[in-house]
Amino acid sequence: MSALKELIHKNEAFAESFDQQDLTMFPELKALVITCVDARVDPANIFNLKIGELLVSRNLGGRVTQKIQDELSILTVLMLKMNEGKSFNFEVIVMHHTHCGTQSFVKEDLQQAVHHKTGLDIAEYANHDLETCLQQDVEALARNPVLPDFFKVSGCIYDVKTGGVQESIGTTTIGEMRKSLAQPKQ
Ligand SMILES: [Zn+2]
Repeated sequence: MSALKELIHKNEAFAESFDQQDLTMFPELKALVITCVDARVDPANIFNLKIGELLVSRNLGGRVTQKIQDELSILTVLMLKMNEGKSFNFEVIVMHHTHCGTQSFVKEDLQQAVHHKTGLDIAEYANHDLETCLQQDVEALARNPVLPDFFKVSGCIYDVKTGGVQESIGTTTIGEMRKSLAQPKQ
């Protein structure tokens, strides 16, 4: 059976009991998770979510790349429009995970092989150290000028061996993060 046929078969029971036609685009948890495309790292399973609870953006490693920033900017403008420019509760959570494939992207031979075939630079995705990259990615959100000060940001790490999620960067507003980034480092 093709993967698509198998998926459509799996969907039948879901569609049969589906009763969520009145959900809106705005997620119930008022949050977006940016995480890895890895099949083991599916927020719907990890957080035991119901449909409509959470926005999820996935790419290689859950890194805050320019593409992710651009999509987040578009989404932000849409949400600001929906809320008529008034502030509203919204949190952007970056979730990295252990044993991520992007940890191997630091290898120069791999970088060269991908560049040779595609012209693309995977260094942007390379995760050399979980905690450091998570910090960089959450800080990158604060550097996106489209995101308003009242948005909240945070960071966590999912352990693919235990199924547990650990908070690494506690929730703070983008405004607060911008202030601390503007201060000279000690
Ligand atoms: Zn990954």
